[in-house]
Amino acid sequence: MKLFGLTDTGLVRQNNQDSYAIRQPDESLGIVVVCDGMGGARAGNVASAVGVEAFSSALEESCRQGLPPDPERKQELLKSAVRTANGQIYELAEENPEYYGMGTTLVAALILSNEAYIANVGDSRCYHWSEGMLHQISQDHSVVQALVERGEITPEQARTHPRKNLITRALGTAIGTQIDVFRIDYRAGDKLLLCSDGLTNVVTDDVVSRELALNIAPEDMARALLTLAIEQGAPDNVTVVVAQL
Ligand code: CA
Repeated sequence: MKLFGLTDTGLVRQNNQDSYAIRQPDESLGIVVVCDGMGGARAGNVASAVGVEAFSSALEESCRQGLPPDPERKQELLKSAVRTANGQIYELAEENPEYYGMGTTLVAALILSNEAYIANVGDSRCYHWSEGMLHQISQDHSVVQALVERGEITPEQARTHPRKNLITRALGTAIGTQIDVFRIDYRAGDKLLLCSDGLTNVVTDDVVSRELALNIAPEDMARALLTLAIEQGAPDNVTVVVAQL
């Protein structure tokens, strides 16, 4: 298992409110997480940094204690780590007026030897590339995604919709949060991509799929995806984590 991530401010924003973390407690086990913060110049950075650190530390500790065999309990461990992150961000925001209202998205994966578990809150995304096909695993928790699901706009219209930045779920803005968790099987050669909307708002799924099909190292793939976002003007922070399984 090879894991690589990078984050970039982009060409328009003054600072980078995205964060990511990669932990590999052992050869056959990977923890990856991307957070896209919001809430003022400094607070967004804090929310995403605390989010990735709290989540990955909590999940790594669970892994060290030994993972339960059944999928439901593994999914519960992911949810528990997300709740830990949520609680830490929420408390910081409560205690510090300058952090009031901060929050973050979170998309994360626990990668094992032939399966992976994905947790999602917000509109950062997880894609699974397998046998030439790209599958979006996470569903955005956003105003425009709800409009797409109701058939009011098309996915193409969603990409450029004026309200595309409004998310309907976040970490750190309330005591509790609703968390999606998914389980996927995978085969040798499959790839996982975790990314913030700074990538997916400017690079289409078709282009992402074409990049993931290339037989290159995760490091080169992540750099190629970032370059594509930069070529599109990179109006937002861009974060990309690639796992090659
Ligand atoms: Ca963003």
